[in-house]
Amino acid sequence: MDPQYQHVVQFSGGIASFATAVRVVKRHGPERTTLLIADTNAEDEDLWRFAQDASRILDIPLVRVADGRDPFQVFHDEKFLGNSRFTPCTRVLKIIPCLRWLTENADPEQTTLYIGIDASTHDRRRIPPIATNWRPWRTAFPLCEEGEPALTKEELLDEARRMGIEPPRLYEMGYTHNNCGGACVRAGKAQWILTLKTFPERYAMAEAQEEEFRRKNGDYAILKEQRNRVVYPLTLRELREREQARQGANS
Ligand code: SF4
Repeated sequence: MDPQYQHVVQFSGGIASFATAVRVVKRHGPERTTLLIADTNAEDEDLWRFAQDASRILDIPLVRVADGRDPFQVFHDEKFLGNSRFTPCTRVLKIIPCLRWLTENADPEQTTLYIGIDASTHDRRRIPPIATNWRPWRTAFPLCEEGEPALTKEELLDEARRMGIEPPRLYEMGYTHNNCGGACVRAGKAQWILTLKTFPERYAMAEAQEEEFRRKNGDYAILKEQRNRVVYPLTLRELREREQARQGANS
């Protein structure tokens, strides 16, 4: 392989992208490998500790790119509130800054982009659209390759621990992903209730931002709920009030 060939790992700060980086370094060495991460201005502080540890233990540079806004600033600017199906924050805060860096630093003919998709059936379905979106860069998904054992998230976390690196604390706290500090708009009700308990200040911020968005733009909400076969917006405020009433009734 050309010694100038680059291996760029799209590093989200999650365990699957770390495991991906481990495999890339094993295969190609650290010299031409880069950890590329987009800062959404909403990440848990421990994500940055993990990212630094990953860079140090794998001996590869961590390149941090950023739009500068956070997800709610994007929703206000785009007049679109992110939800489980549509997330303008992903495009603005992650894809565009990474694309800009790739355009300036990585010749598509001389670069492979590695994505941390884990081996679960659900995740594998994301591969074709992701590969299309990143063209003209060639993409690879090491955790899903033939011959690679289909490890669970728990097994990937154990693998990191065996390497002497402490996984991001959000997993230990019950989150399935380490993104946007547990306040990702893709999450469902159960995760938002978890965030209400573990990071009440983050929940309060998201609730206040959602209320402001509604004042300006109408009856939209991050969450939805079906009642009598009709789908309604479910606001974070309503979810919190319900949860607090439920806890009050149980105490
Ligand atoms: S993790 Fe969630 S909230 Fe954060 S940028 Fe991605 S989709 Fe948006």
